[in-house]
Amino acid sequence: MAIAEIITVGDELLSGETVDTNASYLDGELERLGFEVRRHTTVPDEVELIAEVFRAASERADLILCSGGLGPTEDDLTMLALATAMGCVLTRHEPTIVAIRERFARFGREMTPNNERQAMVPERGEVLENKAGTAPAFRAELGRAVIYLLPGVPREVRYLVQKVIGPRIDRGAPVLYRRTVKVVGLGESRLEHEIQAVVDAYRDRVRFGYRALSIENHIKLAVRGEGAFELIEEVSSALRAKLGDAIFGTDADELLSVVHRRLVASGRTVTTAESCTGGLVAKMLTELPGASSFFVGGVVAYANRAKTTLLDVPSALIESEGAVSEAVARAMAEGARRRFAVDVALSATGIAGPDGGSEEKPVGTVFIALADDKETVCVRLQLPGDRSTIRSNTALALLDLLRRRLG
Ligand code: ATP
Ligand code: MG
Repeated sequence: MAIAEIITVGDELLSGETVDTNASYLDGELERLGFEVRRHTTVPDEVELIAEVFRAASERADLILCSGGLGPTEDDLTMLALATAMGCVLTRHEPTIVAIRERFARFGREMTPNNERQAMVPERGEVLENKAGTAPAFRAELGRAVIYLLPGVPREVRYLVQKVIGPRIDRGAPVLYRRTVKVVGLGESRLEHEIQAVVDAYRDRVRFGYRALSIENHIKLAVRGEGAFELIEEVSSALRAKLGDAIFGTDADELLSVVHRRLVASGRTVTTAESCTGGLVAKMLTELPGASSFFVGGVVAYANRAKTTLLDVPSALIESEGAVSEAVARAMAEGARRRFAVDVALSATGIAGPDGGSEEKPVGTVFIALADDKETVCVRLQLPGDRSTIRSNTALALLDLLRRRLG
């Protein structure tokens, strides 16, 4: 398995000015090309430091991608650093001078002398034309590694990787198949428990990774080599057998778009009756175009008075059970379903905090309900986090309740 390292150069990457998006972009591309990225190093614009990481990385990696510091200004020192690491000098690359001059002429500008700096390259190696910018890229061999120098500008990095470097380094490295299986509504530890047997059975051949995201958990599968695709399929089915409809999709699927798709396909109409979410569920349901085919409208019933007058929740019920209760959540959904004359109604009532909690119903206590022609279901949630997290996760949980109901 080929090992890669990424080096990014620039003072601005170490001062909080610029986020190192090149490194994460390169991670993704290298992963796709079948390399295992083992290390990122970020260095300031200093020749000795850059040369030092080139030397160190070239003893560990088969491939090094380095971005930044190829420009015309005095702080662009990456070529010099590479020459230093290689123990050679810089030479003038005439075709590059010509190319830069032509590029300037095309844009109707005069080439300033410092631009010639960009044509100074280590004497051993290969200049790679950069049609997306002025500074050429460069390929050299150092230690056990092949090293590519790229400019810092993210757009140029993308161009060079896709058009020039990618095709060269894709020498049939074993293909990596990846799939993200997306799960909703199970806690992380519960999820791990449920799939333990599957993980144990495949862990020698499949790499498992986990990522928690709001109320979702993503299981990341990666398999390399012969039969990888079939193996990914097999593991996915095994996970489905364990998790059932807690799995809402894979890869690019999003909870919202899955719900949207199912709603459109079901032909059913929907309304919302929201208290603690203040309209978030309605907002989410109307996020994607085509919502008018299922969403009729909704009510934000925040105060008790709104719950009784707009949703026909009996005030005696609010009195006896509390506004945050299973009985009220059910009554809100049923009232909204009648009032709007729709197939499905969703409701949410809860304590989003930071105040209002009690021992019996602490902050994060939420009741969500769904009423349709068959029955009304209600779920009590105990959500962690601050007010905004509790509110958005309540809305997502309600969408998920709807998704499961739609089948
Ligand atoms: P140029 O030929 O344009 O001068 P360069 O190789 O000298 O390219 P830099 O001067 O280091 O590149 O950076 C050019 C631009 O790209 C700057 O705006 C910088 O903030 C941005 N940049 C540099 N490195 C990165 C990185 N790792 N991630 C994201 N942006 C970066
Ligand atoms: Mg720079």
